[in-house]
Amino acid sequence: MFKNPPTIGEFQLIDSIKKFQNLSSCVIKGVGDDAAVLELDAKRYQLFTTDMIVEGVHFLKGTAPRSIGHKALACNISDIAAMGGVPTCAVVSIGIPKGLSADYIQKIYAGMSALAKIFGVSIVGGDTVRADKMTINVALLGEVEKSRLVLRSGARPGDRIFVTGPLGGSLKSGRHLRFIPRVKEARFLVETFLPSSMIDISDGLAGDLGHVLKASKVGAIIDAAKVPRNKGAGFEAALREGEDFELLFSLPSAKAQKLIQCVHKWSVFRFFEIGEIITLPVRLFIRDAGGRLRRIKPKGFTHF
Ligand SMILES: [Mg+2]
Repeated sequence: MFKNPPTIGEFQLIDSIKKFQNLSSCVIKGVGDDAAVLELDAKRYQLFTTDMIVEGVHFLKGTAPRSIGHKALACNISDIAAMGGVPTCAVVSIGIPKGLSADYIQKIYAGMSALAKIFGVSIVGGDTVRADKMTINVALLGEVEKSRLVLRSGARPGDRIFVTGPLGGSLKSGRHLRFIPRVKEARFLVETFLPSSMIDISDGLAGDLGHVLKASKVGAIIDAAKVPRNKGAGFEAALREGEDFELLFSLPSAKAQKLIQCVHKWSVFRFFEIGEIITLPVRLFIRDAGGRLRRIKPKGFTHF
């Protein structure tokens, strides 16, 4: 898909450019989580994230322009949700191939704007340039109370692992173009239970859990039978495909029990317990119905 693909993987690439970060004292967390965390005021942190979607990689030529706009903003909002925060303001830059009508571009903005309204996001600027392929980059700010920030690095042995919805088949079904980011679920979680770690599933359950394990320096076991799957999606699809944009989080077991009771009682949201965090080394295991463990690579979809 790439004319000149980098010779190393996406995450190795991110690791190798980390050294170029210039961190001032207002940076609480730089590269290595769903969003950067910056000092805002005595009670709150500013969250800052960006995501780019490119024709042929994240959506196909011929995709409805409203859906493209929706996805471009939704995947950024999802990253803010993964930190426990609420989104606030965005800037949007678009690379436009020759020959596209103004109407088409307006429809992209209409899709973005409809979602922005739902989440109270103001689109406050951006840029448009000529490009070979339709490309949209959104940079999004958010906020979170200091006491409610959740990073990838807080998972501890004994914690239970949850997801907010069924996984797999997102690309095939077109769900990746119309998903609603899990901000409400995230806010409920940070206000009530405060997860020990959280991430959104963009690269696939195995890959994103892998990021949490690496950041938290722990291992994990996933119970294959407990992983909720979308209609038509097999276990491997649920494990690897990605673009689900559900939240993946961990909770100490006492809190996990309470969450499960809470869901049974009120069932406002859906939370599925799928496994547990174990001690080092950073390894991921699948447990089958007979209790047998199989070690797997903590890898999902990679862009490069
Ligand atoms: Mg993310």
